[in-house]
Amino acid sequence: MAARDLARLVVPVECPGCGARDTLWCDECAAEWWDTPLRVESLAPRLDVEDRPALPVWAVTSLSGPAHGFVTAWKDGGRRDLDRFLSEAMERAATTIGPALTQLPGPLMIACVPSRPGAARRRGRDLPRLLTGAAAAGLAAVGLEATDGSRVLALSRGEQRGSSARRRWQGMRQSLTVRAPVAGRTILIVDDVMTTGASLAGVAEALERAGAAVPAALVLAVAEPARAKAATGLG
Ligand SMILES: [Zn+2]
Repeated sequence: MAARDLARLVVPVECPGCGARDTLWCDECAAEWWDTPLRVESLAPRLDVEDRPALPVWAVTSLSGPAHGFVTAWKDGGRRDLDRFLSEAMERAATTIGPALTQLPGPLMIACVPSRPGAARRRGRDLPRLLTGAAAAGLAAVGLEATDGSRVLALSRGEQRGSSARRRWQGMRQSLTVRAPVAGRTILIVDDVMTTGASLAGVAEALERAGAAVPAALVLAVAEPARAKAATGLG
């Protein structure tokens, strides 16, 4: 018996959404991830920084419900079995929004908000890259060719976090590097969660400065406005 299976005998599995025992996820919590993606850019206070019009953003679900537990367990709770579950959610979402992207000059590229240096090593896998591949597969299902741009952007170690949204935004702008030629490309951005929109706006701006067009973004979950407001802070 593999060590992982032995561990299962000792550590009870539970639904990351509601804590129901002895199930990887319950049907009710899982159902949220089958929702049709909705446009959510109006919920992000930091998407339109620097007079830039708000980037159109689709999200599969809201982070306020069971989805929050799924994302936390997946990113930092060691639930690697959610890789496939959430990849499939991203793939379905990309398939659903695909028809809205068919008029764009192709082939599309899919880029992601890069994780911090060391995150992939700590987690044992590269989650942004996983989402990028899933989105590409979803677009391919509706006949849209999309190339993998998950390595196009990188964050240097200088990125600030924890302070105000404006400082995070400025820190991200300074530490984002575009590592491949993207001039003339049309790029869809993917990410796991949109909170204030600062990360998506930072990535979109960096790509546009390098000559790309960024028509939209697709995320797994969106934080509710109250949550986004708390993250922005009152100062
Ligand atoms: Zn549940």
